[in-house]
Amino acid sequence: MAKIKITDAMSDQAPVVESAQFEHQRLLSLINSMIDGVVAVDESAHVDIYNGAALNILDVNSAIQGQSLGSFCKLVDSNSQPIDIVELVRSTTTSYVSRDYIILYPDGSKANIYLSIAPVHLGYGKAGSRSYVIVLRDISHEKSLEEERDEFISVISHELRTPIAIAEGNISNAKFIVEKSHGDAKIAKALEDAHQQTLFLAEMINDLSTLSRAERGVLTVEAESINIHDLLTEMAHNYEPEAKAKGLRLYTDLSRNLELLLSGKLYVHEVLQNFITNAIKYTDKGHITIGAKPQDKGVIVWIEDTGIGISKTDQERIYDKFFRAENYETRKTSGTGLGLYVTMKLARLLHAEITTKSQLGKGSKFTIYLPNLQ
Ligand code: ADP
Repeated sequence: MAKIKITDAMSDQAPVVESAQFEHQRLLSLINSMIDGVVAVDESAHVDIYNGAALNILDVNSAIQGQSLGSFCKLVDSNSQPIDIVELVRSTTTSYVSRDYIILYPDGSKANIYLSIAPVHLGYGKAGSRSYVIVLRDISHEKSLEEERDEFISVISHELRTPIAIAEGNISNAKFIVEKSHGDAKIAKALEDAHQQTLFLAEMINDLSTLSRAERGVLTVEAESINIHDLLTEMAHNYEPEAKAKGLRLYTDLSRNLELLLSGKLYVHEVLQNFITNAIKYTDKGHITIGAKPQDKGVIVWIEDTGIGISKTDQERIYDKFFRAENYETRKTSGTGLGLYVTMKLARLLHAEITTKSQLGKGSKFTIYLPNLQ
C-alpha cells in the first residue's frame, strides 16, 4: 500500500498568507505523524483533509481530497449488513465510537476497524459550517485475540459442564442419604455447602458459555411455535420447590387468550429463566408472580417480585457485564453479574423489548415483549 504524504505547494505571497500556510503545514505534519487514520470531511461527507495512515487503512493509493467518503470506504456491520458511511457520518450529532464495523477492500479482503466520528462546528451562527473528524484504526489483531479468548471460554465451559453435573448429582445424593439416615449434622452441613457451591459453578459456567457464544455472534434464532401458556406453567412448576424452600409463594397470572408464539424457544426459555431465578434469589419474603398476555402480534410476559428492589441508579446498570448491586442484600447471594447481560443479548436476537420497574425495599417487575418472528 502506497503511503502518500500530504504536502502543500509553497507560496511566495504576503507574509500573512505565508504564516497561514505555515500553520496549515504544521497542522498537516501533525496529523501525518499520527498512527491512527484521520479524515476530515465536510457536511456532505466529501474529504477535506486526511493523513497517510488513513490511506493505509482505506487501502487507497491516490489523493482522496474532494471525493465522497462512500466512494472508497465500504463498511459492513458484524452481521455482514452493509453500512452507508455517508449516512452514518451525516446522522452523527454527538461523538460516536464503534469497534464493530468491518471495512471491505476491492480485492475481497477485510479488516476490523475502530471508527470514531466527531462532529465539528466551524465558524459561528448561520455563517458557520458543520464538518466531521473521522478516526480509523485497524483492530483486526485485537479482534482475533478476542475471538480466540471467546472460543477458549466456550470450549472450557463446555468441557466443565459434564464433570460439574456429575459432582452436583453425587453431592446431592450423598446429602439425601445423610439426611435420611439422620447422620452427622456437620457432614450434612458440609455437603449442603458443597452442593450450593457446585450449583453456583454450574450457573456460572452456563452464563459464561452463553456469553462467549453471544460475543462471538454465533447465536442464531431458529423460530418455532411456542405455547407460552404451557412453557410458563411448566417453568412455574419447576421453580415452585425453590421458591417454597425460601418460604415464598409462586403465582401465575396467564391470560386465556394466549396464542402460539413464533420465536426461539431455547432463548425465550433462558431469558425467562434468568428473570425467575433472580426474582427468587432477590426475594426473602412475599411472593413472585409470573404473568403473560397477548400484545401487538406477540406476547408480554412479566415477572414480579416483592424482593429487595433495585435503586434508580442501579436500574441503569443491571444489564452491564459483571454488574452486581453494591448492597448487603445482594452481596449475601452468590452471582456473576452476567445473567442480565446475557439476557439483554438474547433479547436483542429475539427482537424483544425489556422494561424494568423497581423500588428499593418493595420489589421489582421485569416485563418483556416478545414479538412473533416471521
Ligand atoms: P447476578 O444475579 O448473577 O448477580 P444478574 O446479571 O442476573 O447477575 O443481575 C445483576 C444484578 O441486578 C444483581 O446482582 C442484582 O443486584 C440485580 N437484580 C437482578 N434481578 C433482581 C431482582 N429481581 N431484584 C433485585 N435485584 C435484582
